Amino acid sequence: MKYISTRGGIEPISFKDSVMMGLATDGGLILPEQLPTAGPEIIEKWEGLDYHELAYEVISLFIDDITSKDLKAMIDNAYKNFDTPEVTPLVKVGDLHILELFHGPTLAFKDIALQFLGNLFSYLLKERNEKMNILGATSGDTGSAAIYGVKGKENINIFILHPHGRVSPIQALQMTTVPDKNVFNIAINGTFDDCQAIVKNIFNDIPFKSQYKLGAVNSINWARILAQVVYYVYSFLWIKNKEGAERVDFSVPTGNFGDIFAGYVARRLISPHIERLILATNENNILTRFIMEGRYKIAQRVIPTVSPSMDIQIASNFERYIYYLFGQDPQRVKRAMEQFEKTGEIVFNPDEMTMAREDFASASISQPETIETIRAVYRNTGYVLDPHTAVGVAAAKRLSSALLRHSIVCLATAHPAKFARTVKEAIGHEPKRPASLEDIEKRPTRLKLLPADIGAVKAYIQQQAT
Ligand SMILES: *Cc1c(COP(=O)(O)O)cnc(C)c1O
Repeated sequence: MKYISTRGGIEPISFKDSVMMGLATDGGLILPEQLPTAGPEIIEKWEGLDYHELAYEVISLFIDDITSKDLKAMIDNAYKNFDTPEVTPLVKVGDLHILELFHGPTLAFKDIALQFLGNLFSYLLKERNEKMNILGATSGDTGSAAIYGVKGKENINIFILHPHGRVSPIQALQMTTVPDKNVFNIAINGTFDDCQAIVKNIFNDIPFKSQYKLGAVNSINWARILAQVVYYVYSFLWIKNKEGAERVDFSVPTGNFGDIFAGYVARRLISPHIERLILATNENNILTRFIMEGRYKIAQRVIPTVSPSMDIQIASNFERYIYYLFGQDPQRVKRAMEQFEKTGEIVFNPDEMTMAREDFASASISQPETIETIRAVYRNTGYVLDPHTAVGVAAAKRLSSALLRHSIVCLATAHPAKFARTVKEAIGHEPKRPASLEDIEKRPTRLKLLPADIGAVKAYIQQQAT
């Protein structure tokens, strides 16, 4: 399996090189040259596999340059820190299926990709006898999931900037209580935008970047998407096995379009068993507007909501889908993205929108509706949703009568205890904390407080990077 760029500007490369490249060097996103499909015999063979085994079967379809022994070891290592052997259990809540993606070390679905990516990076760096310093900025979930993905790994250091006092207390503690020596939390006296601007600026300093072997773990790495394809297939097989269903729909709380793009890859892989993907957005709804209006138009600003991990202005993985919508024509993608840079807008033709609406149905959910959904589901079933998951559940409910007749799986992307304040507003009390958070306030913390200043951050990296 070779990998290409959505903008056509790189020679096909191996899977391993694609992981190390991250963003394609022509500014595009990396995709497999061909999306694999699994016929009925293969899908039948997958029935009854546990999560680890299925992960190996699915992921290995996309990788031909790592031995099966090494890949299996990497997958086992990635998912051994989850608090259930099922890794991503499904539970029935009323007439919905909830796919719990929050059983990893930081209680959000990003663990599923980043536990795998951390092991993969470490493996490739060892093989190449190289080191890497990961640098990133976080407003919450991604930073802690990235830290847990690489903590304790010999050939990697990680520097994560967060705005001091401006991430939720639990999210800050999840990052700063990690004792491993290769983890450097930098608390910036400033906003998340300051953090992002500093990181961007440092990555643009090419000599500094190569001297300190800086790398990123942002949501555009193909290996992250790949790891997420697995639980869509797992869910279908679970429902088929338990309830005999042949087709399922998924409702996906969406921000940067990474998770739901993994759903699209799964839909192509096990066609026709995934009927539709529900693209659920909060008030930051550029993608819902795309489905409704046929134009992808940048929002004026980001609206802060109770589902902060979906608060985005543009969806960084959307270019991957455009590539298929444009009939895998990289020149058209390149032109469209150049136009988007200039005008902030891409307009799609009616045929393209017919295709897009076959793949996705979409709804944008307001904050009051999100809170009301948490309240109603709790009242009716006793189950506590986190606000991101509630956006997906509300979208599924809104669309189910109009469009869909199948079993709907709602992706639960975070544990409610991570967003205790909003949950309390909805149901009157805080959700029960899982074991991993129980005494988190009592653990020692480590962070470096720095001003919102590029020079200060660079000096600190220089001092600590190895
Ligand atoms: C990141 C995140 C999302 C959005 O996922 P995308 O892949 O960016 O669409 C949804 N919910 C939670 C809890 C997240 O952390």
